[in-house]
Amino acid sequence: MLCEKTYCHSRLHGKVAIITGASKGIGRGISKVFASEGAKVVLVSRTEADLKKVTNDIKSAGGEASYVVADVSKAQDMENMAAEVLQKHGRIDILIHNAGIYSFVRFEDMDLDQWNNIIETNLTSSFHVAKACLPAMKKQKNGRIIFTSSISGPRVGLPGASHYTASKGGMNGFMHTLAIELAKYNITVNAVEPGNIMSEGFDMLGDEHKKRILAAIPMGRLGVPEDIAYADVFLASDEAQYITGQSIIVDGGQVLPESHHMEY
Ligand code: NAP
Repeated sequence: MLCEKTYCHSRLHGKVAIITGASKGIGRGISKVFASEGAKVVLVSRTEADLKKVTNDIKSAGGEASYVVADVSKAQDMENMAAEVLQKHGRIDILIHNAGIYSFVRFEDMDLDQWNNIIETNLTSSFHVAKACLPAMKKQKNGRIIFTSSISGPRVGLPGASHYTASKGGMNGFMHTLAIELAKYNITVNAVEPGNIMSEGFDMLGDEHKKRILAAIPMGRLGVPEDIAYADVFLASDEAQYITGQSIIVDGGQVLPESHHMEY
């Protein structure tokens, strides 16, 4: 695994990076890679035991990490989380809002609770966490906000996931407008759109789903969390200082073919 290598890089040296959804899957991968690039990472999710484990793994490998237990769908949790980070580190350089959930239910069978659960966790949380981190970034006249979006919604529809695709499409729209409004504070706002990435959440969709998805990926493999993490590193790095309001698709070519009934 790429993120197991020694912590000797420095593209994010000394930067304070908050990563939501850091206890599992893609967020755990981002956290490890960011720490390996010298960032002081703050891991956020709802499950303390998982956060503790990832934090300890990063520390054992020589990185700097701490965690805050919080629910991204709760405004007060996000306010408290940002305050705790500021008390510990005095600044917030990078916010990776990656926490998210997905489930499958056709629109005709979907009830409002199912819709709201996804919208609040994936989209309204973007409002809460950006609001909470903005004052510090504004004061610093510097900041990077990066959303984990998806190809599902911004690029393609996904039957059974109208709530999810709406949340990620909304996330990209939010990102575009924040990028304009926050540019004057030297804050960039971008997104990464994963295709299908191996994670605990993805595993729960089952082997049949995995097999069908695999057949639709020209590169012939599912993604790994590090594939997303390195796109995030670039967007968070000094090299990307003039890039804002953009999203990078990281999907092994999945959205490219006109038809999936041909050989790649
Ligand atoms: P995952 O393995 O299920 O991990 C999700 C993470 O989000 C966990 O750390 C979870 O921790 C956290 N989380 C969920 N709800 C939360 C809440 N209310 N408050 C705080 N943390 C919360 O999922 P993943 O596959 O890595 O997905 C990560 C992100 O990538 C999501 O935004 C997802 O939509 C996006 N994405 C994934 C794929 C893919 O193929 N894997 C593709 C496109 C986009 P707790 O449950 O402990 O809180």
